[in-house]
Amino acid sequence: MDNPAATGILQGMKYDSDIVIVGGGLNGPALALALAAQGHQVCIIDAQPETLRKNAAFDGRSYALALASKRLLARLGIWEQVAGHAEAMQEIKASDGRAGEGPSPLSLHFERGELEEGPMGYMLEDRYLRRALLEAVAAQELVEMLHDEVVEQDVTEQGAWLTLASGKVLSTRLIVGADGRASGTAERAGIKRTGWDYGQTALVCALKHELPHDGIAHQFFMPNGPLAILPLPDNRVSIVWSEKTGIAAEINALSDEDYLQVLRPRFGDFLGKISLDGKRFSYPLKLTIANHFVAERVALVGDAAHGMHPIAGQGLNAGLRDVAALAHVIAHAGMIGEDFASLLVLQRFQEWRRFDTATLAAATDLSNKLFSNDNPLLRLGRDIGMGVINALPAVKRSFVREAAGLSGELPDLMKS
Ligand SMILES: Cc1cc2nc3c(=O)[nH]c(=O)nc-3n(C[C@H](O)[C@H](O)[C@H](O)COP(=O)(O)OP(=O)(O)OC[C@H]3O[C@@H](n4cnc5c(N)ncnc54)[C@H](O)[C@@H]3O)c2cc1C
Repeated sequence: MDNPAATGILQGMKYDSDIVIVGGGLNGPALALALAAQGHQVCIIDAQPETLRKNAAFDGRSYALALASKRLLARLGIWEQVAGHAEAMQEIKASDGRAGEGPSPLSLHFERGELEEGPMGYMLEDRYLRRALLEAVAAQELVEMLHDEVVEQDVTEQGAWLTLASGKVLSTRLIVGADGRASGTAERAGIKRTGWDYGQTALVCALKHELPHDGIAHQFFMPNGPLAILPLPDNRVSIVWSEKTGIAAEINALSDEDYLQVLRPRFGDFLGKISLDGKRFSYPLKLTIANHFVAERVALVGDAAHGMHPIAGQGLNAGLRDVAALAHVIAHAGMIGEDFASLLVLQRFQEWRRFDTATLAAATDLSNKLFSNDNPLLRLGRDIGMGVINALPAVKRSFVREAAGLSGELPDLMKS
């Protein structure tokens, strides 16, 4: 079949939808809800069957959602569905650590009172967030969800079209790639990526423990990579334990009991006895950032635009910020009668997000290099650095506002 966009048949015709979002993970559905609230007809396409994603069991992933992300979810009507499963992060403690030695006394400590707007963030398991987003999408009349794989895309001045594995062809004004780190949308649009392998793997699981965590999140900077201990409801924590890939593979091959034996000296005994809650998972850690976030009639959001190290727990937060910024730019274009799918409008989104994201990716990359290291001079330097920051209220405050996603220009959906 001839490409209807290329042959100009789309001129003056109605498109199948205003916007097609490729990828129904987390960022895709969030964007669809934000755009539907503006009155746009949206189609989400995801290659995975819905049952697999909606009824997902705990997959070891939980998110540290920044306050700004919580605000976006509240505006989309999602927060009230998941709030009962979320745990507020009352405090964050970051310190140098070594197996068996406990944390260094020179540490960074952020307390709740340091942010007048409330807790800096919330911990939420992936399964609750995913389900709430998919249910909201199913209830929104302006959003259609297709379970199919995009295999081809083409763009002309008149419109864009997508070919699916089933043979279906869809026309639209704008394609948004929310299709993850190996974004086919970016590749088909000729957008190249920059990135590298950290040589680290994140070991992820949830633990039950004896003593209350009091809503405190911990980050121990170990020589092979950071260990994050993040509070979940019901005396449980989520851990993201980064190790050199070879060592991680050895740890992964251990039985549950032996795995805990290796973890215990790193974790410490401040929460009493620990045991596994559910399965263990591992994720290889890579940085991948798209060289451009937009092309003609194409925009990228979430991991499709940037996949980063989980050291600062900012991957999804950065994606949700893309969602809010793109929705903001599209809404404002509509208000002044501009074509929201034009490159001029899309470039506003890119200018807003690409610099922020590259800075965040560089900062997480630098922190990882600086902290995943046992060099005694670096160790002394970073210990003193953390002690100094801890003693400077103004510097601490700017760190807290950054972690809560409140610094810089906020998109409308992230304003209080
Ligand atoms: C160990 C670990 C811990 C993390 N912890 C945090 C944290 O604490 N806080 C935080 O903010 N972030 C965290 N992250 C990052 C977070 O998981 C990701 O940023 C987020 O899941 C990305 O969502 P997404 O919707 O952009 O992409 P994805 O979830 O990757 O979704 C992409 C979707 O696109 C679909 N797709 C792909 N290609 C096609 C195609 N051709 N046709 C149709 N569909 C297609 C796929 O089926 C998939 O459903 C963590 C990540 C890891 C690995």
